[in-house]
Amino acid sequence: MSRNYTIGVIKGDGIGPEIVDEAIKVLDAVAVVEDITFDYKEMLMGGIAIDETGVPLPDETVQGVKQCDAVLFGAIGGPKWDTVERHLRPESGLLGLRKEMGTFANLRPATVYDELVNASTLKPEVLKGVDIMVVRELTGGIYFGQPREQYADRAFNTMIYTREEVLRIAKVAFDIAMKRDKRVCSVDKANVLEVSQFWRDIVEEVAADYPEVALSHMYVDNAAMQLIREPKQFDVILTGNIFGDILSDAASMLSGSIGLLPSASTGAGVGLFEPIHGSAPDIAGQGIANPIATIASAAMMLRYALDEQSAADRIDNAIKLALSEGYRTGDISAYGAEEICATEEMGSIIANYASRE
Ligand code: NAD
Repeated sequence: MSRNYTIGVIKGDGIGPEIVDEAIKVLDAVAVVEDITFDYKEMLMGGIAIDETGVPLPDETVQGVKQCDAVLFGAIGGPKWDTVERHLRPESGLLGLRKEMGTFANLRPATVYDELVNASTLKPEVLKGVDIMVVRELTGGIYFGQPREQYADRAFNTMIYTREEVLRIAKVAFDIAMKRDKRVCSVDKANVLEVSQFWRDIVEEVAADYPEVALSHMYVDNAAMQLIREPKQFDVILTGNIFGDILSDAASMLSGSIGLLPSASTGAGVGLFEPIHGSAPDIAGQGIANPIATIASAAMMLRYALDEQSAADRIDNAIKLALSEGYRTGDISAYGAEEICATEEMGSIIANYASRE
């Protein structure tokens, strides 16, 4: 029986519309072979929303996303809106949306495509086969903890986690590990911080419900080093907000280009799926942006929000095939390019591969 999903689409600014259009092209191609129907519900956010409604996050969008099965997002921002008051900037629209959607888990894969092992600053033999998923707690920890204050002679923040916050993010990580290589490495600083020991104890508790998953613990300073030394040792990295912020950026650079990496922010409700890069105003409107990060975000949406594993595999395999056949957008063209593609061409090639019987 055909499955039907409502997908919220927020194209945003700069290259946002160009790359989201390609992701939709790929979703539509996969829908035909997988007997899925997507209803797209386009909504405004960011600079374009400021231009059209006066605010970066219109109420209509806040209400609209709640009626969707998942939301696919491009990117927002640009110099046009940089002088706007801070709370009315495009970026505050995105922060507001994440808050409204209650997305407490940020999933950032760091995958190294074999064809692009030369695109990183690390040695190919260190990188070949790297496939990591960083699961970062997104709405707690030191970024949000109270009290926080800055005085003339001192300043402080509070690192705090509740039992519920650790339980729910740990469950996300273990559920994901069950769909992957069944290994979770929980990263903390339990040798120094009470909040980390608390985190560790609760992660152990959750692990008891997942006997098939191997759990290890690592201090964050060592994890930073191991990510560069031997990244292949990791499958799922589970960590708190501030450690995850730093480690996910370090891990993302293993793959070489910002134009390749997707992300997902999920929680109790609707999830938000987006490339990790911004709106790239320097290349907007030229039709040369790399759509792969957004297309891979659509694959994550199928995998983690809609549980459409076969459709997600199709897209991930199609991306790999396009790269192994030598197709490259400009940002990755220096690495074994046989054919330089425009945004639309890359989207069409991936859509074509993804829809093959
Ligand atoms: P950026 O990620 O937009 O661009 C950094 C560099 O990477 C640029 O040279 C750009 O051309 C290149 N690049 C990015 N994505 C690419 C792609 N898909 N294909 C090819 N090249 C790509 O970061 P920035 O320049 O610091 O920020 C530009 C704007 O984006 C700012 O307004 C910023 O606030 C906003 N931003 C938005 C988000 C988001 O929407 N989630 C994230 C980061 C930055």
